[in-house]
Amino acid sequence: MKKYIFLFSIILAVLTLAACNNEDLANNINNGKSNDSIQHMDTEFSEFKIATYQSKENPLIEIKYPVFKNDDINNKIIRYRDHDITEFIKMVKDDNENNLLIIDIDPKQFNDDVYFFNKTKKARISDSDIFSQHNIFAVNLKSGQVGSTESFFKTDSKTRESLFKILDEAISADGSIFPYYQHHKLEAYVNNQTNVFLNIEFDDDYAIFQFDSEEIGLPAMGTPKVKVLKKDLIPLMDETIQHCITGQKPKPEETDSKETEGSKDNKQAKEYLTIRELDPNQKMVALTFDDGPKSDTTNKLLDKLQAKNVKASFFMLGSSIETSPDTATRVDREGHEIGNHSYSHQDMMQVSFDEIRAEINDTSALIEMYTNQTPKFFRPPYGSFNATIEAKINIETAYWSVDTKDWLTHNTDAILKEIKENVQDGSVILLHDIHMESVDAIDDVIDYLTSEGYQFVTVSEMSHYKGENTLKMR
Ligand code: ZN
Repeated sequence: MKKYIFLFSIILAVLTLAACNNEDLANNINNGKSNDSIQHMDTEFSEFKIATYQSKENPLIEIKYPVFKNDDINNKIIRYRDHDITEFIKMVKDDNENNLLIIDIDPKQFNDDVYFFNKTKKARISDSDIFSQHNIFAVNLKSGQVGSTESFFKTDSKTRESLFKILDEAISADGSIFPYYQHHKLEAYVNNQTNVFLNIEFDDDYAIFQFDSEEIGLPAMGTPKVKVLKKDLIPLMDETIQHCITGQKPKPEETDSKETEGSKDNKQAKEYLTIRELDPNQKMVALTFDDGPKSDTTNKLLDKLQAKNVKASFFMLGSSIETSPDTATRVDREGHEIGNHSYSHQDMMQVSFDEIRAEINDTSALIEMYTNQTPKFFRPPYGSFNATIEAKINIETAYWSVDTKDWLTHNTDAILKEIKENVQDGSVILLHDIHMESVDAIDDVIDYLTSEGYQFVTVSEMSHYKGENTLKMR
């Protein structure tokens, strides 16, 4: 099963990227939508109903999602829904009756303000097998946060050890189940990386793990329930979930300098990244990375940039910031510029102006929430934009002048070749930090550009030193 999930992710990633630079992006996404139906159903929870979105025509799409009384929360959830639909439609190549996308949710109340939804996504493209994917999203009614993640608990070995200890202690203290307990089975349960922990319920103070027969012990154990304090589990939860529970944004790591009274005032004003003092006569190049942050690839890239002391610019998607907020925080902490690349990577020429404004404003709000920067630049997905819209938005646009086509080739040599053939003083280079090949290419790219006498600048610095036209080319 894991293999299929992996394959599914790859196909998704390839197709997402293939579309990323295609200005003739198929506009069939919204076709037929008006015929589609949405029904609302009451639940045992008074705070929300469950909506079922259903397509009337091929392909079959059926998506369940919660509808709260708060429009702000609903809009965020609908964005996830539409993102799932868009990603699926991009993969569908024909009218095959087997094409289907079904998303089901299982709601759990964590406390008065916070609900979790275990989401199961099943998809089939043509005659493929059914791919299945799980994730969890959390909603905080008080703070309005909606966070989505693949794992309920952090996946590192230290966290899993702590989880084992907590459960092991609770089981050992319960005389009715302890005699039948097999701790190697519990070990396998907590360390299984595909375990998404769907078996947890919550009451006021406790999290209750409901185990299957023989899952952690002998048959005589029955189907045991193991109660542990909720507050002991919170530190082990995935950070996106934790932030949703606490209703707080993550804090950037403490720096060496102590917070002075002055720095508090600075927080009030818009904060742009400082423009460094550089030699204006030396050649400059800006490395820009789109479509992240993505925890594994972006963090590897950040390690490399840090090792070579290179500053770059990251055009982030709001939806990805919600998934990987800590990675966004790290990008800021390490002095890279953060730009706005829309919330859901739609073609802005295919949506209403209200939607464009929401896509931009929501993403800027997320950047401000998780970093100390206010983005100065918006880079439209696919570079698809026009002067009329540009004049109506309250953020500058930034394009690129060298397209490495990394989204197409996925090849480190081809990426370097595109750069060698096209780079010049003032070039803004387009890369994607969601691809490992692009990250793998970066050492050679930096070494080559350094040997050619370039200094690496952010897009703000490029505009400052070489003129704003450097950002307008594409
Ligand atoms: Zn993009």
